[in-house]
Amino acid sequence: MNHDTAGAVLVFNAGSSSLKYQLVKPDTGEVIADGIAERIGDHDSSITHEQDNETITETLPLPDHKAAVERAEKFFADNGIDLARAGLAAVGHRVVHGGRALYEPKLVDSWVRSEIERVSPLAPLHNPANLVGIEAAQALLPDVPSVAVFDTAFFHDLPAAAATYAIDRRFATEHAIRRYGFHGTSHEYVSGQVAEFLGRDLADLHQIVLHLGNGASASAIAGGRPIDTSMGMTPLEGLVMGTRSGDVDPGLVLHLNRVEGLSFDEIDDLLNHNSGMRGLCGENDFRSISTLVDEGDENARRAYEVYIHRLKHYIGAYTFELGKLDVITFTAGVGEHSARVRADALAGLENFGIVVDAERNASESTAARRISADASVVDVLVVPTNEELAIARQAAELVAARWPTKIPGAQQNREY
Ligand code: ADP
Repeated sequence: MNHDTAGAVLVFNAGSSSLKYQLVKPDTGEVIADGIAERIGDHDSSITHEQDNETITETLPLPDHKAAVERAEKFFADNGIDLARAGLAAVGHRVVHGGRALYEPKLVDSWVRSEIERVSPLAPLHNPANLVGIEAAQALLPDVPSVAVFDTAFFHDLPAAAATYAIDRRFATEHAIRRYGFHGTSHEYVSGQVAEFLGRDLADLHQIVLHLGNGASASAIAGGRPIDTSMGMTPLEGLVMGTRSGDVDPGLVLHLNRVEGLSFDEIDDLLNHNSGMRGLCGENDFRSISTLVDEGDENARRAYEVYIHRLKHYIGAYTFELGKLDVITFTAGVGEHSARVRADALAGLENFGIVVDAERNASESTAARRISADASVVDVLVVPTNEELAIARQAAELVAARWPTKIPGAQQNREY
């Protein structure tokens, strides 16, 4: 099959033991191919590649992210795309933590690499994996510019009152302790889509965006800029998540160390991987949790109530911080697909002008849509997120600014 790959961007999103990739056209959003390598470094690692309406899954040893990048490249080659000769505009990398210095998309050079490494202690599971992905892609495609896009970027200028922890300033300064926020690419993309959907100027909107996936975060956005977000120094703070606790009393960490003798690494593992919905009811997928709730499972019901309680808590707090609220938007796996979560999170808020229409909420769609009633003062929307496309656009834009001839039509059409 002939593939029009000129100007496409190959996006990599490396997790601690996974690597997602997508070859996408930044102008149209067309996905030419995508894939995911899972359980990297484990005995049963696998990779799935999807292209031309075909899905291939292979179980094979993938000792590290480099092996996964190399296997992905071979999948492309076997399916008629020689990545080195495909006319790619860029390789875009999602990098979880940019620290204080990296908050704009950056061409990856040795300084950017060393800075990503320097802030790795703030994201020990992710930044090292991101770096390996970057190095592997650069070795494979030395002539294609690598662009890093940071998950923390959108929140870099959070107001100090929202970004500062009330601890001794000496420690905060010395160890770069502050609230950074994460899922920034998604919050920025979705809030922009909201303005488009409503046909309103982003600068005029006061919005709350609820990114509810396995990881979950809320943000309050005024005039296109975030004024608060629920994740903090790490992606552990805030909402109850699939396997992460979200907000807890920090005293709990000390207590567990003292009474249970758990080491800090063990507590880290507990709060990140065995807490949240999984810790409360043994399940972290909302499809299973919903079934368990329907079947009368007490633990699942309690877990669900805790999840909704925390969501409401943030919606309320952000409404007051914003001072005015135009729109609440649900996005990511749970936000886009669970009508139950959306209904319960906003139940009983009619007095605040928030009314969900049951029928609109229940209808399934992959498009952006309004689920609030006509009488609702606040619009309630469901807007699919697309972090890969957002990364591809930012990478292509940076490359077009640097090398205007690299992207076909870049000078005529700088829309993206
Ligand atoms: P990640 O944070 O891994 O990117 P996603 O945004 O893809 O996560 O969300 C994954 C989660 O979305 C799943 O764990 C599941 O809880 C939830 N989810 C996906 N599809 C549905 C559905 N149809 N109904 C309810 N929840 C869903």
